[in-house]
Amino acid sequence: MKEHSVLSTIYENICRDTGKQNESAKLIVVVRLLTLAMLIHSFVCCILVSLTAHTGALAFSLISPVLFLAIFVLSYRCSTFTSYCILNVCILFWSVMNVYYFGWNIGIQHFLLVLLVFVFFSKYKHAGAKILYVSFLFILRLILYYYCRSHEPLTVLGTELNNALQMVNTFFVFLSLGLVAYLFSSTTQEMEGKLIEYNRKLMKQANTDTLTGLYNRRRTMEYLESLLKNAESQISICLCDIDHFKRVNDTYGHDVGDVVLTTISNTFRKRLPPDTFVSRWGGEEFLLIFPRLNGDEAGTALEILRRSIRELVFDGGTEKFTVSLTYGLVEYDFHSDITTILKEADEKLYIGKESGRDRVVY
Ligand code: GH3
Ligand code: MG
Ligand code: MG
Repeated sequence: MKEHSVLSTIYENICRDTGKQNESAKLIVVVRLLTLAMLIHSFVCCILVSLTAHTGALAFSLISPVLFLAIFVLSYRCSTFTSYCILNVCILFWSVMNVYYFGWNIGIQHFLLVLLVFVFFSKYKHAGAKILYVSFLFILRLILYYYCRSHEPLTVLGTELNNALQMVNTFFVFLSLGLVAYLFSSTTQEMEGKLIEYNRKLMKQANTDTLTGLYNRRRTMEYLESLLKNAESQISICLCDIDHFKRVNDTYGHDVGDVVLTTISNTFRKRLPPDTFVSRWGGEEFLLIFPRLNGDEAGTALEILRRSIRELVFDGGTEKFTVSLTYGLVEYDFHSDITTILKEADEKLYIGKESGRDRVVY
């Protein structure tokens, strides 16, 4: 429990904002974590150097923890940009000094690669400056390499210590690179995820009716166009309309009318074959599209639906009531256009209404 609270306090402090507006919250976290990684690295190096009793080397190594501790403290006082610049300059300076002091074999020069990744992941957008900086890092590395080839390091370490430091440095270079890449890529993935979700919601809003959740007329026309264009099997289309719905509204109120609309919509979803495209065509009219059924099959499905809807009992407040729908069904003839098919379905619906409602006309 205590351990948890210590860890969460550390985490909260690392994530603490600079308090300045318009500053990237993520970048300061990366700066602090990278500084902490460098700090731990410095301590490990100090321990290794002290084990081999190089007094001069130890004195030099001790500068590093002080330097990175100072940067860590400064990150709470300066702006993100200043902290970011200080860390960059310090890693740069520290790498050069270490190569100069201990030579090429301890592998400290690889920290220049961390700077390369760090500069490209930062939010500061000056692409020209970034490219210039990378060129500078490249040239600096070449200079260091050629310098080390012709000069002995200031302190010549033994092979064992060289190897140990090489391993520690490689580990921390990978850790730092992974840390920077992970933290920045997680932001991108998070943003991408939000964008996908936002687009999905927008698409849903553009395609569905808010009250019933059924497809709206715009989406239905789109679907119908593509379905008829690529028609391979029988397709049936039904236009249906709630009977005397005005009366429901007038007698029990608009809210009860809305309940009827949503309940009927849910019954469509439950009772019709799963691949039926169900849409609210307008007011209390619905268009049902059966992409793989011929007229007879669709007629059977509609008859089951019609009976289910007839069995629904609604609460009108003062009394219970039932509703019915009339259905105009047509089978696609593989050559008519959408307007003609819809007109035909509407005519069938009209016939149904005229002949007493609550029926499927095919
Ligand atoms: P018919 O059997 O001939 O279809 O008669 P009807 O009363 O159903 O037809 P009419 O066209 O006269 O009335 C349709 C009613 O549907 C009128 C309108 O207020 C109501 N309506 C349309 N959309 C909604 C809605 O979203 N909610 C509610 N509660 N009523 C709606
Ligand atoms: Mg009606
Ligand atoms: Mg109507």
